[in-house]
This record gives sequence, structure tokens and C-alpha cells, in this order.
Amino acid sequence: MEKIYMIPVNDAYSEQNGCPICRLRDLAEKNYLEYYLGPSLMEPDTRKITNKTGFCPVHMGKLNQAVTNRLGLGLVMHTHLKDFNDELNPKLKSAIPAKSGLIKGRNSEYKHRLNSIADLIDERVSRCPICDNMNDAMKHYIEVICWMFSHDNEFKDKFTKAECHCLPHTALLLRQASSLSQNEASDFVTALYENNSQSFDSLISDVEYFTLKFDYRNTDKPWGTSKNSIQRSMRFLSSDDRNFDEQQTKKQN
Ligand SMILES: [Zn+2]
Ligand SMILES: [Zn+2]
Repeated sequence: MEKIYMIPVNDAYSEQNGCPICRLRDLAEKNYLEYYLGPSLMEPDTRKITNKTGFCPVHMGKLNQAVTNRLGLGLVMHTHLKDFNDELNPKLKSAIPAKSGLIKGRNSEYKHRLNSIADLIDERVSRCPICDNMNDAMKHYIEVICWMFSHDNEFKDKFTKAECHCLPHTALLLRQASSLSQNEASDFVTALYENNSQSFDSLISDVEYFTLKFDYRNTDKPWGTSKNSIQRSMRFLSSDDRNFDEQQTKKQN
């Protein structure tokens, strides 16, 4: 099993703060954002890729916010725009439908051409080397988690006591578990089930308490752990924490 993935997996499971696989994803994302903002931008091999792919909307936003290496970002953007233009606009020009005259009659082939150019645009704007690399890293992390669960008792204990596994990452773990032997899968899914049902129970109870706090009779009761239960539920349900921070809760104070 690949050691380079074991250390970050162990670290992520040593911390109690939401889903450890979300932490691994954030770490992988941070590393790839730094990579694509670093000297790699000047390497011809990397540029060959980014000229074709550009970045997805989420990662363009994160590269934009990173503010370091504006020149590098500008160079990448320049050659990517040129590449996109070179591919798209000749096709777009040749797809302009001819006006149907009385002599020529109607030709519906243009409909197909317009849709296929729309498909080309949709496909190109969704490409992203950061997403591709992250998906690849996540695949390794998930493999390593399942392997360590069966081969490392200390890790097994950490896995069982993890604060939660968000649902999209639970799905990744289940897909990987389906490739384990039946006995290994039995132990792994038992631990996952216990972890998952505890997460549901505690979120359901915290969110209920949160709603009950709005009853005037409960105004003086303490918030306990319910205060950020909506944000924690959102992170649990979607694993995406972009807009699920606790700012809103702070405003309520
Ligand atoms: Zn997660
Ligand atoms: Zn991306």
C-alpha cells in the first residue's frame, strides 16, 4: 500500500473536526492550487494541458482569490483563451445557418450543428486539471483508508471514533468496500454504519433543539451543541463547505 497516502490519512483521522475525508480533499485541493500557481505554470507540459482545459468555475474562483502569481495566471488565461478561440470560432462560423430562400428550401441540418457546438462548449468549460488530480488523489485516499482499517488496529479505532463521515464520502467508502472480501467488508461496513447512524441521530436531535429554541419558553435555555447544527448538517449532507460556515450563526448573536 502506498505510504505517501498513509501519513495524511492518519493525520486527518487524528483530528476531531467534521469529516476526515473532507480534510483530505481540502489538503489535496490546497496542494494542487499551489502547484498550478507555482513554477509549473511555466513548464511546457503543464501548459499543454491547461491550454486545453483551463479550470472549472470553482477552481478559477480559488485561483483568483489566491492573488499570488497574477502574471502566471494571466499567461495561462491568455493561451487558454487562444486555444479555445481557435477551436470554437471556425466551427461556430461554419455553423451559421444559411437563410432559407424559395429556391434552396429548408435544411434542418443546422440544428444538429448548433447543438454539437453547444456540447463542445459545455464539455470544454467543465474540464479542470485540479479536479482531475483531486479525484485521482481521493481514489488513492479511499483505497488506503479501507486497507488501513483491515491492517492497522490503531487506525481502525480512529476510524470508528471519527466525528462523522459526510454522506458523499460515505458513498465513496461504500463503493470501495464493495471491492473488499466479504469478511473485511462486514467489519468495515459495521463501523461505517455505527458512525453514520450516530451522526444522523446527533444532528437530528441538535437541529430539533435548534428549532425549539425559537419557542419563547426556551429563550433562556443554553444553545448547547445546537448552535451551528444547520451548518454541520449542510456539511454532512453535501461535504461542500463553501457557503456553510458559521458566519450566519454569528450574526444571530
Ligand atoms: Zn467528507
Ligand atoms: Zn476544478
